[in-house]
Amino acid sequence: MMRPKRFKNVTRNGPVQIGSSYDNRGREKHTVACTAPRCGFSADYDSRSAAELAARTHRCPAR
Ligand SMILES: [Zn+2]
Repeated sequence: MMRPKRFKNVTRNGPVQIGSSYDNRGREKHTVACTAPRCGFSADYDSRSAAELAARTHRCPAR
């Protein structure tokens, strides 16, 4: 599993994790990453609520 540097407010929704971080322009972004083996889903969002929605609606192809 990848180990992002400086994520904060990491939460977990099943196998899906959400973490907030700042990009190199100082803007907050929110990354959703699925930790299930063979899934590999991850995406960045501009808002926390969009990231949480994506985490909630994510369906693992591995399952
Ligand atoms: Zn998944």
